[in-house]
Amino acid sequence: MLSWFAKAPFGALAPRFDRAGAGEARAGAPAAERRAQLRVGIPRVLNLWSTHQFWIGFLEALGIEARRIEFSSDTSEEQARRYAKGRGTVDCCYPVKCISGHYGELLANRKRRIDILLSPMIATLPSCLAGHVVASIACPRVMAAPENIKAGFVKERDTFAELGVRYVAPLVNLDDPPLAAKQLYEGLRDAIPGLTAEETRRAVAAGYRALEAYNGALRRKSREVLEWCAREDRPCLLVLARPYHMDPGIGHEIEVDLQAYGYPVLWAQYLPIDEDLLEWMFRPDIEAGWVRSPFDIADVWPSSYSANTNEILWGAKYAARMPWIACVVRLSSYECGMDQPTYSPVQRIVEASGTLFFSFQDLDSTKPAGSVKIRVETIAHYLEKYAAGIIAKKRAASPPGCPLPARDSVGGEAVL
Ligand code: SF4
Repeated sequence: MLSWFAKAPFGALAPRFDRAGAGEARAGAPAAERRAQLRVGIPRVLNLWSTHQFWIGFLEALGIEARRIEFSSDTSEEQARRYAKGRGTVDCCYPVKCISGHYGELLANRKRRIDILLSPMIATLPSCLAGHVVASIACPRVMAAPENIKAGFVKERDTFAELGVRYVAPLVNLDDPPLAAKQLYEGLRDAIPGLTAEETRRAVAAGYRALEAYNGALRRKSREVLEWCAREDRPCLLVLARPYHMDPGIGHEIEVDLQAYGYPVLWAQYLPIDEDLLEWMFRPDIEAGWVRSPFDIADVWPSSYSANTNEILWGAKYAARMPWIACVVRLSSYECGMDQPTYSPVQRIVEASGTLFFSFQDLDSTKPAGSVKIRVETIAHYLEKYAAGIIAKKRAASPPGCPLPARDSVGGEAVL
């Protein structure tokens, strides 16, 4: 067992709200029964893209079935037009501005009316890098976004009160399970009938288990992709972006356009972190004294406070060392203050290994379809022309003992 593999630390509404007598009808019902009838709306935004399974596991453990958890749909211009009109706030960051449309959509759903709009203010995030970096803090704009966006729904009239919806935005440190349990108990005790501190603690543990299971499954899938690439000696692409760039309305599905050319696409958030793989890729750096573990990014980013930023830098290092990642595509949003200082280091790390690097910066509401098409064609052209050489060069520079079933460059056979 390798010592540097420290386990990452994942390791009221007065009973339902008064909606046309519904509260009265259930007033005498036990808390569990009233709870089971709640419908909870969650905006599909920002760091919900990497933590949604936690919230599902958490709420299910509290007796709210998954089918009664409503996520808003993907971000879209239509969503903003229909549901965010007149709700604008002053934030100039595009992914934050979009949240108004998600709130509006959840509140406007007449078929499945929500009782609670849960929009957690996530201050810190679980991360596979935890324990190896200084901290795993969320972007401050992301954390504060729920309060910021709420203002647009209460500035003239309290829309939540009018619709009988309880707005709940608990501050939560998801990198600290005991603290998260306390925060969620305090934040939800008035919204969830009969909630106790002890069951909140158990529900939080269930949430982390659900999140770990989901992340583990996707990391296994990514490993399968890398194994296929190694066996076939074929290239794949890595996307370096924030979790919410997976939202088609924020990232504009640029990676989908690339995949259509036949190149498998991986996201840095779900890269495989198996010990054998990381040992092979990072052991030389550890022995040289540059880093203390495969998850250490102090050699390239000493100021490692921001969770998403840390993972982007780590993903760049990973891409530089993995031969079959022949190309990195960097996505970032318009006016992103957090991403700007990382542009040069990320590009330098990736390009120093000979890996192709392309970036799509300042993504905003409109997909620049024409220029994206041309650039995607350019990337596909470069991959077609140079991928084989890039893989061969990176393989030659790699340490011996690759745990992936790489094709023998001489005999053409897969070697295990
Ligand atoms: S990381 Fe950048 S794009 Fe995302 S919320 Fe923060 S400032 Fe905005």
